[in-house]
Amino acid sequence: MILVSACLFGLNCKYNGGDNKNKEVLKLIEKYQLIPICPEQLGGLSTPRHPAEIVSGDAKDVLNGKGKIENNCGEDVTEQFLKGAQESLKIAKLYGIKVAILKAKSPSCGCGVIYDGTFTGTLKKGNGVTAELFLQNGIKVYTENEIEKFIGNNSEN
Ligand code: SF4
Repeated sequence: MILVSACLFGLNCKYNGGDNKNKEVLKLIEKYQLIPICPEQLGGLSTPRHPAEIVSGDAKDVLNGKGKIENNCGEDVTEQFLKGAQESLKIAKLYGIKVAILKAKSPSCGCGVIYDGTFTGTLKKGNGVTAELFLQNGIKVYTENEIEKFIGNNSEN
């Protein structure tokens, strides 16, 4: 069983009401049970919604109450992102999930690289809040750009 960002699955949960459907991710359903989650919806944010980025600190700081996430209107949505991360972890624990495939660059789901908080499309090193919480709880995280790596690491299953 693998948790997957719901937008990669084709669900219209993206901030603009669209999706990030990914054929490679969907193909994994032939071999794995995929459970779609959208941390931002789980945190109580509406769809569509204003896009948000980590504007102060990094995901670890946000989880420690020292960082901040705002949408592009300057509204603080840190609390919703934290709730979404915790609810996502709750689902992961309920199912004994060890691996997640999450959407690259997102302030919730991104892993390794995320948007830098300037709303200019600029990237910086770092994780989204849910991805960071998963990693801190021993859940391996891949992005949709690492499917080959995921398959290579799980080929014995
Ligand atoms: S990247 Fe994550 S939080 Fe954003 S729409 Fe996709 S599943 Fe939801």
